[in-house]
Parts: sequence; structure tokens; C-alpha cells
Amino acid sequence: MDQLLKVEDLQVSFKTYGGEVQAVRNVSFDVKRGEAIAIVGESGSGKSVTVQSIMGLIPIPPGKIQNGKVLFENQDLLAISKKEMQKIRGSKIGMVFQDPMTSLNPTMKIGKQIAEGLIRHQKLSKQEAKKKAIELLTMVGIPNADKRYDQYPHEFSGGMRQRVGIAIALACNPQLLIADEPTTALDVTIQAQILDLMRDLQRTMNTAIILITHDLGVVAEMAQRVVVMYGGMVVETGSVYDIFDRPKHPYTWGLLESIPNLDSETKERLVPIEGSPPDLFSPSKGCPFAPRCPYAMEVCVENMPGEYKIADNHIARCWLNDERAPKKTKQLVVAGRD
Ligand code: SF4
Repeated sequence: MDQLLKVEDLQVSFKTYGGEVQAVRNVSFDVKRGEAIAIVGESGSGKSVTVQSIMGLIPIPPGKIQNGKVLFENQDLLAISKKEMQKIRGSKIGMVFQDPMTSLNPTMKIGKQIAEGLIRHQKLSKQEAKKKAIELLTMVGIPNADKRYDQYPHEFSGGMRQRVGIAIALACNPQLLIADEPTTALDVTIQAQILDLMRDLQRTMNTAIILITHDLGVVAEMAQRVVVMYGGMVVETGSVYDIFDRPKHPYTWGLLESIPNLDSETKERLVPIEGSPPDLFSPSKGCPFAPRCPYAMEVCVENMPGEYKIADNHIARCWLNDERAPKKTKQLVVAGRD
């Protein structure tokens, strides 16, 4: 698989009344064509700001891209004009939001909202755009699509609105689909249907996906690779097997232990990660997870851990992986994985 997107050393901050928030710190990762990656972390970990920076959706000011590159097909999206970025959004990169109502216009018929993008980006005639919009609605599983075409968003259920959001994002055959917590607002059954739909689309259309989620259960269903973020930084990255079967960062261990195991007969308890997310106004010079980490050592408080290569494509930013550190591992049994 060749590379589609490469984020290099991204740093993003926000000016607030309380000072400058270091929201994203030296984040690097890549996405290959047709691959699904998940970015996971609690709220405030920097995952949404990272993808908003990729999409050029950071309000500047108060936001500021301090450093970095976002190379999409080798073009730096941080260096192009707003107009060029607008062209890429909705044609080469589509986005699905947590609440589809934020992306849908409540006063405009659903079909027209899909057709608009097709007319603008693909230069289709009105008639062609209507035909394609009905095809898209059918493809994302909306029954009676020709009738639903003329309905307004409030006439759709939450799950159906999210399907429409996906249809809009897919209208121009994007090479990359960014989905920011796409199923958080939906009940479990609808959530499974939306994830199935996205997985099918990834396979049939070879669309790469960046899935943003705080839910590792969703990651197990969807992603081939995982980027774990904490305190605005990438703390571990690896294949979905690396992250679920041999995680090497205490924060990842905590996330895995906090997945409820609904299948378990013993009703295993959900273990929350104690403590609060780090202060991003004045981040500590050491490991950002140190105040919450049950394995923290003296070195962790004063010194930022480097990136330790565990295996090909598996990296963890934790001192425990240093050869001088005491050996600590976790044997985890995680819901949703064999
Ligand atoms: Fe915990 Fe230290 Fe590893 Fe940070 S570097 S996660 S504080 S053990």
C-alpha cells in the first residue's frame, strides 16, 4: 500500500484568556491508501484538533499551527490557500462528524444537500447530480431513496442522518474519509450498522479512513492500525494486534482495561483511568502521563521519554521500554478480540 497522508511533527496551540494551550505536540503518523487507522484517546488528548488541522478547520486565530507538515499526496495542506483547501475538502477528503446535524442544513432537503457538492465539485448537471445522490442514499442503506431525497433532516432518525452524512462525505469518491466520533451519539445497534457500512465502503471503494474515537471497542471492529494520543502527543502507535495483544504503554493498558466486556459471564468490571487529563497550559517537561501512571519512576517526572521501537511499525513513548527499566508488562483480555 502506498502512502496517502503523512503528518510530520505537527504542533498546534490556541490562545485563550488563561494562556496558550499546547493542544497538539509533535504529532507524526501516516495513512496508506485504502487503510483504516484509528486515533484514540480521552477528550483533550488532541485527536480532534489533529484532524481539524489536517482539514484546515482550525480557526486562526485563536489557533496557531506552530510547526509541521500535512502531506496529502505529497502536497503540504498547511501551505496551500483556503480556496485550494476548500477544493480538496469535499472532493479528495470527506469528513463525517459526531452529530450529523452540525453538517446538515436543517432548512434544505437532504437530496439537494448531496447534489450540491456533486454539482460544485464534479461539475454534474442538476439531473445527473440527482441521479447520483439517489444512488448514494441507496448505497448507504436508506430505503426508498428517491422519496427520501425530497425530505428534510428532521424527518430522519439519528442513525439515518449519520448515513446521509456519510453519503455526503462520499459523494465525490474521496481518497480519505475522516470520521470524528461518528457513532458516539447513536445506540449500540445503529452504531454496529454504521461501522459495518464504513467497513464495506472502505473495502469496495478503497477509501482510506481516519477514525477518531475514545472507544477502543470501535477500534477493534474497524482499524488496521492505531495511534494512541495523550496530552496532545502520540504515546503509542502500532497495528491493531500490537495495541490489543502486546501494548507497551501504561496509558494504552488503562484504555484497554476501561472497555466494558459485555460478553463476559463474570461481568468483568470496567476500570476507569484514575486522575484527570494533563494541564496543557504549561505541560510538564517529563512524561505527560506521569501524574496518573501507576508505574511512574523518578526519571518520568523530569525527562520526556523518547520513542522506543518495539517492533516494525510499533512504537511506544514510555521509559518502561528502556533496557535499564524494571520489566513491567500487562496480560490483557480485551472485549471484542479473540
Ligand atoms: Fe508511566 Fe513513566 Fe511510562 Fe510515562 S514514561 S507512562 S510515567 S512509566
